[in-house]
Amino acid sequence: MFETPFVVDLFIDGELVKPSSGRYSERFDPGDDGRLIGVVADGSRDVGRALDAARDAFDRDVGGWTTDHKLRSRVLFKTAEIIRENAEKLAVVESLFSGKTIRTSRLGDVPRSAEILEFYAGVADKLIGTSQVLKTGDLVAIVKQPAGVVAAITPWNFPLVILCRQVAPALAAGCTVVVKPASHTPVSAVKLAEMLHRAGAPKGVFNVVTGSGATVGRELVRSEKVDVVNFTGETSTGKGIMEAAAGTLKRVVLELGGKNPNIVFEDADLERAANAVVYGAYANNGESCAAGSRLLVQSTVKEKFVRMVVDRVKRIRVGYQLDENSDMGPLVSREQMEKVLEYVGAADSEGLKIITGGRRITSGLFSRGNYVEPTVVDDTPPDSKLFKEEIFGPVLTVTEFGSEEEAVELANSTVYGLAAGVWSNDTGKALRTAEKVKAGAVWVNTYYTLPVEMPWGGFKQSGIGRNNTVLAVEHYLEHKGIYVDGQQGPMRPYYRLVLSG
Ligand code: NAD
Repeated sequence: MFETPFVVDLFIDGELVKPSSGRYSERFDPGDDGRLIGVVADGSRDVGRALDAARDAFDRDVGGWTTDHKLRSRVLFKTAEIIRENAEKLAVVESLFSGKTIRTSRLGDVPRSAEILEFYAGVADKLIGTSQVLKTGDLVAIVKQPAGVVAAITPWNFPLVILCRQVAPALAAGCTVVVKPASHTPVSAVKLAEMLHRAGAPKGVFNVVTGSGATVGRELVRSEKVDVVNFTGETSTGKGIMEAAAGTLKRVVLELGGKNPNIVFEDADLERAANAVVYGAYANNGESCAAGSRLLVQSTVKEKFVRMVVDRVKRIRVGYQLDENSDMGPLVSREQMEKVLEYVGAADSEGLKIITGGRRITSGLFSRGNYVEPTVVDDTPPDSKLFKEEIFGPVLTVTEFGSEEEAVELANSTVYGLAAGVWSNDTGKALRTAEKVKAGAVWVNTYYTLPVEMPWGGFKQSGIGRNNTVLAVEHYLEHKGIYVDGQQGPMRPYYRLVLSG
């Protein structure tokens, strides 16, 4: 379907361009490290060029982008259509570079990306301000204007869908964008740029600069030409971004890490819960901010439920990411695999019991990729490193609780607050728990359902702001007040009133 290696160039001012550095870095297949799959432009000397293009497109309203709501709506709808026409190619690219299974990309990432664009296409032409005539006869108007140039910095685990989540509301609002995709997975960002321009986005509206976070990302965050930074990635990187953005007092939207609990009460539908707990922990290879990586289970059903979970985990088929039969693929990189294995090692040294998994898979073809067994760690106490820290791999910890209060306390005892699952057939208990858990998204008797209609963002150190829904558009709008004096004749004596008052 494709010729590899992909040559990933920059996309600036409406066209693909070579990097001024002349340098490219190599990317190898996460499932087969002998295979070169891409060479990626080092755009560290081209950030200024991309920012000038985005700034100019915004400030001069090139092609009517910032003022023509209907144009933006049409472009977003059309881009979604082009994504659907190219769904299979995009799915292969997403899986090849990230290691996620082809079924995940086909059924999840690619159609969800199109849905996000369609949702914001529907929002774009409805972003109208409000106004009111006051009793003086004066008019006060709230005018919505796009905020300016947006820098979108993305992670590698859901390259296209997270990018769409970050940029679709910004584009709907009339902003222009410079994207810095994750170095492991840059192809779909450049593809999205091409598709947007085929769909009619004017030159300069959407630019992509590949390269490292330390050079390209850093320059974007510091630049005076950027008005809003939307970042998805690790909490530690997010903290640095917030600090760097303070220099120019730009807005930041931060979607950061998670260590999400799945709370299973004794009265839950255990069959349903076991399926979802396994899906929540191992979907996308466990490399997901939303992964339900902590199982909290009521003591009375703990033994039975853990057995049900482990039975299912043992049936997960680990394999090459483009193989239709794989349920879990290789981890994105050698470093990521080593990080996950270090956590498993820490479980050993903390004296925790690994009930299943816990090793790198090295037999035959597996030796050439970053394959790790899906792992379950039993009786993980709240002070364990594995309970508190985001592992970002196929590792599920199990912790039991007695009461509803204890469940909530355990759920809330990390620095994160992104998502949670609650399982109970008692609606009141489920809703009480959902209410008390400090997380931006709580699923009741389900897990991972994340349509664009569901707000997405974190409490505590999981982030600032919300992506998805119409709420997200607000990050990219300025609300300007315009006051029109309805009086005729001489000016009213404001000063005298103030002075004598
Ligand atoms: P990361 O923080 O290492 O990198 C994210 C992006 O930031 C990359 O494009 C990287 O090049 C760039 N970057 C790195 N240093 C930078 C700097 N100093 N200035 C500007 N940009 C910089 O994260 P990752 O490893 O790509 O992704 C995994 C992390 O992302 C996990 O912590 C995960 O929980 C989080 N994540 C969160 C969400 C969410 O919705 N909350 C979604 C997906 C991933």
